[in-house]
Amino acid sequence: MAQQEDVFKKIVSHCKEYGFVFPSSDIYDGLGAVYDYGQNGVELKNNIKQYWWQSMVLLHENIVGIDAAIFMHPTTWKASGHVDAFNDPLIDNRDSKKRYRADVLIEEQMAKYEDKIQKEIEKAQKRFGDSFDEAKFRATNERVLENQKKYDDLHHRFQEVMNAPGGIDLEGMKQIILDEGIVCPISGTRNWTDVRQFNLMFKTEMGSTADGASTIYLRPETAQGIFVNYLNVQKTGRMKLPFGIAQIGKAFRNEIVARQFIFRMREFEQMEMQFFIQPGTELDWFAKWKETRMKWHQNLGFGAENYRFHDHDKLAHYANAATDIEFRMPFGFKEVEGIHSRTNFDLSQHAKYSGKKIEYFDPETNESYTPYVIETSIGVDRMFLSIMCHSYEEQLLPDGQTRTVLHLPAALAPVKLAVFPLTKKDGMPEKAQEIINELRFHFNCKYEEKDQIGKRYRRMDAIGCPYCVTVDQQTLVDNTVTLRDRDTMEQHRVAISELRSIIEDKVSITSLLKKLL
Ligand code: ATP
Repeated sequence: MAQQEDVFKKIVSHCKEYGFVFPSSDIYDGLGAVYDYGQNGVELKNNIKQYWWQSMVLLHENIVGIDAAIFMHPTTWKASGHVDAFNDPLIDNRDSKKRYRADVLIEEQMAKYEDKIQKEIEKAQKRFGDSFDEAKFRATNERVLENQKKYDDLHHRFQEVMNAPGGIDLEGMKQIILDEGIVCPISGTRNWTDVRQFNLMFKTEMGSTADGASTIYLRPETAQGIFVNYLNVQKTGRMKLPFGIAQIGKAFRNEIVARQFIFRMREFEQMEMQFFIQPGTELDWFAKWKETRMKWHQNLGFGAENYRFHDHDKLAHYANAATDIEFRMPFGFKEVEGIHSRTNFDLSQHAKYSGKKIEYFDPETNESYTPYVIETSIGVDRMFLSIMCHSYEEQLLPDGQTRTVLHLPAALAPVKLAVFPLTKKDGMPEKAQEIINELRFHFNCKYEEKDQIGKRYRRMDAIGCPYCVTVDQQTLVDNTVTLRDRDTMEQHRVAISELRSIIEDKVSITSLLKKLL
């Protein structure tokens, strides 16, 4: 674990050193859990967004996009339940003065039991090799059974407090923390305050006080911008059910605990799609979207073993089924995307609060009804982090040296091709520029002439550039260059005229999208 934390620290500093992610307002020592994306980060982020947007809007005839404002009428958030219920339970440790989410402390305790079980299994697997029978081992090994019981008991109690009839049972939650002997990781003590609810929405004022300012909120999710536009889009687009509305945009949450870099931010970006369907079909569509979204993730080639579904124990007030897609980060399996069956909760609430009729007339059944909704909701920044974590490698080379390389999927890499003149003489820089001038219209290229070629390769490896081309003496004679592959480090001599056709297909988002069909 300590080793994994070390790796994570390295990834965070790599992100800063190579222009991916900077702390916000860095010269003023940053702002808690707010980050800026640098010259390479913004390209990677844009590519992630493009991959998502195109997979939704280009590949589905019945999904369209919108871009709603961040500010919304304040009644939106009354109707959606956020004013009354968008709370996290928080708890303070009196000695360290650190604040935690009480539910997260308990979830981490459950993860500890799971980890212990996993370690026993891995040890036994090594010992028994091919003859290892995991199911039997789980059913008979004493240490596994003991930890499984602790996990099950805790899980049961946790579900009870989270689903208490009058809302979360805050006292019960504190009791679990005390009974489990959970300590503050900073002070190491159990000197906890009571658990309190904390609303996560940021407030601000619109208009001057003189003409009656009103309190408005920075949206804590993009979804409501879609719901309030349901009628507009359905009518003007003459959309027939089932259909979806996709949106990418900023969301804001005053997170209590904002550690772990861009995993939990106070200002972040979401990619959400609300899929409107006939009531009664929601569990089928829920299953379909689970599969479609998992495929989108696994299509990046990071290995199926690094993903899992985590079904929710506590359903949000609006949901009748919910799951998370979790990815194996250096700090454990963590949620990257949520898929929720939201029933007709949001549309009905907006109908009630706005007084407008928000329904769909089904020409096939001649009935009017309020559509049900399946939501897919993914954080751009968490996706970015998962890609960074999986791609980062400190590789030991056969000559004993190490290189830091980002094995980014080529289609997402910020720079696709770097072009180097071997020296700054003999017209090589001009030739290199000529290549860039031709190819820059097709993909992102970068020119580099400083330092030895080896150093230039390393710099490109560190930003995940999949291809480098070197212009040398021979180029001036026969118009060929060496093309070097980031992952294998192999070099081939190819004609300049072939570069585009060799590279373009591998680095285009289209190549990723085609694999989804
Ligand atoms: P968590 O349980 O981690 O707080 P959540 O279940 O509240 O997340 P959702 O409301 O389902 O998250 O939001 C959908 C997605 O938005 C999440 O899967 C995540 O990728 C992203 N997201 C949510 N909160 C944050 C945040 N504070 N910083 C970055 N991304 C976030």
